[in-house]
Amino acid sequence: MAQHKKGPAPRTIALERIEILFDQAYRNRSDPALADRYVALAREIAMRHRMRMPRKFRRAFCPVCHVYIVPGDNFRVRIQHGKVISTCRICGTVIRYPLH
Ligand SMILES: [Zn+2]
Repeated sequence: MAQHKKGPAPRTIALERIEILFDQAYRNRSDPALADRYVALAREIAMRHRMRMPRKFRRAFCPVCHVYIVPGDNFRVRIQHGKVISTCRICGTVIRYPLH
């Protein structure tokens, strides 16, 4: 019988890889081309496993053009009326979310 049930679940491995990729993106945030590449790879893994991007990474990249977010660099972050308003400097997308 084929041993395909050994080791951690594929999604656990996928999550681990996504974490490594976002960690690398963070370390290479001064190199946008490289950081964006890590985001692209992380998204590919999530899509392949049909899993939702974990909450902590969902705000790490632009939902429209997928650039890795570096506040103050490619993203403008402002707080207004108790909401965080982030504007992507690459594609102009505005993201608003409540401030807790
Ligand atoms: Zn964008």
